[in-house]
Amino acid sequence: MADEKRPVIMWFRRDLRLSDNPALSAAAKTDGPLLPVFILDDDAPGHFSLGGASRWWLHGSLESLDKSLDGSLILRRGKTAEILNKLLDETDACAIHTAAAYEPYERALEEAVEKLCKDRGVEFTRHEGRLLNSPDAVSTNDGDPYQVFTPYWKAAKRKHFRDVLRAPSLNDFAKARSDDLGDWKLRPTKPDWAGGLRETWTPGEEAAKKALAGFIDNKLLDYEKDRGRLDCDPSSRLSPHLHFGELSPLQVYSAVRHADEGASGKGAESFLSELGWREFCAQLLFHFPHTATEPLKDQFKDFPWRQSKADLKAWQNGETGYPIVDAAMRQLWETGWMPNRARMVVASFLTKHLLIPWQDGADWFWDTLVDADLANNASNWQWVAGSGADAAPYFRIFNPILQSEKFDPDGDYIRRWVPELKKLKNKDIHAPFEASASSLSEAGIDLGSTYPKPIIEHSKGRQRSLDAYEKVKNG
Ligand SMILES: Cc1cc2nc3c(=O)[nH]c(=O)nc-3n(C[C@H](O)[C@H](O)[C@H](O)COP(=O)(O)OP(=O)(O)OC[C@H]3O[C@@H](n4cnc5c(N)ncnc54)[C@H](O)[C@@H]3O)c2cc1C
Repeated sequence: MADEKRPVIMWFRRDLRLSDNPALSAAAKTDGPLLPVFILDDDAPGHFSLGGASRWWLHGSLESLDKSLDGSLILRRGKTAEILNKLLDETDACAIHTAAAYEPYERALEEAVEKLCKDRGVEFTRHEGRLLNSPDAVSTNDGDPYQVFTPYWKAAKRKHFRDVLRAPSLNDFAKARSDDLGDWKLRPTKPDWAGGLRETWTPGEEAAKKALAGFIDNKLLDYEKDRGRLDCDPSSRLSPHLHFGELSPLQVYSAVRHADEGASGKGAESFLSELGWREFCAQLLFHFPHTATEPLKDQFKDFPWRQSKADLKAWQNGETGYPIVDAAMRQLWETGWMPNRARMVVASFLTKHLLIPWQDGADWFWDTLVDADLANNASNWQWVAGSGADAAPYFRIFNPILQSEKFDPDGDYIRRWVPELKKLKNKDIHAPFEASASSLSEAGIDLGSTYPKPIIEHSKGRQRSLDAYEKVKNG
């Protein structure tokens, strides 16, 4: 076979889109037919294998990508390097293009594929695209990774970003055997717990573009003002689309910047800095890979965490007796997502009021979030727990009642997710345990029976946490 006619493999990973995909654009420019491949490598250890909600999302995202590729996406399951080796045997492909990845396990896979290609004389090219800046592109004057967000983002957003790429025209695909997506059983069946996910989300590139446009048209202007509110829906909900690469961060950044021209700029800056946090978390995990599961700050290795299966379960089930915590945990279970403010409140409650290790909370999020992302999840949990980079100070212990009054003043969010509290008056809904017996009975609530009593009293939980942090704070 003449070299220019040999197929070129596009190895898709978490870049499940056609637009602004530098690896795909490069692969499509070559003369040979394109072989688009996705490999489910579920031998990955612990946190590198997908959680349940992510598996559900992946199915939809692959279905959508396959449609955009005229049904030519090749699906294979197994060890990545072995599968690619077989595909090279089967198709005599001359090159592999892929998007550079930065998580520890993904990097190990990439190295194995790079070695394979070298041994076989096949070209292997990694293209940037998952982040605005690759993790080693932004460093302090001393050449160290930043560990404080504000100077990081100031330096990062000054970098020159390339133009957004259009989807390449694709019409010549190579053929190879593909698994049937249904056989991968990414979607739950017995029991089928994904009804709420189906109602809430549409995975795939087209839906992602719609979500971005909808956010810009309807929410961007008020984003800064409203972003913490729980009683309305002020944020973009782009996190799962970004995680699976159905949109690139550059597409989001450019569209928001463009929309902002002429407007006040405040919503845009505040929103773009959230994309900055995504970059910051990714570069932290890249430079400090142990932080996926271990504290960044060494003194936290000796933190006196509690182990309590019962308390962890009550938190997971949304049965702590604190309505704002319970609403958020039930929203997570039902829809695979919760807003950032709610994540901070429930994470603070678990790690501070209950003194349960942040890793237990991160594990639960890993399994239940549709946007579960190793870098964002670990960094944010550590930020709340106090053990991470630029973390919240140990004495910041969210008061769940005040948070509820501030961010859900009329209790709309609570009523939606904790329907048994629906009939409580606004003044009582944030802390039913402080309501009078007659108010509770009018609302049909029997504390301890129809709704739990608080798992711990706020001031006791706060003091226990401060005492525990006292032991490590100067370490
Ligand atoms: C304990 C905890 C765990 C978290 N786990 C995850 C996770 O597994 N995956 C995940 O994507 N985000 C995680 N976050 C960050 C954040 O809560 C979500 O990204 C955000 O709520 C997603 O909603 P959105 O797309 O509407 O956000 P928007 O407010 O519209 O923000 C736009 C985008 O910026 C990024 N972003 C926003 N806030 C953060 C942040 N604090 N850190 C990093 N990136 C951010 C996301 O990609 C998001 O889609 C976590 C936060 C906390 C406190």
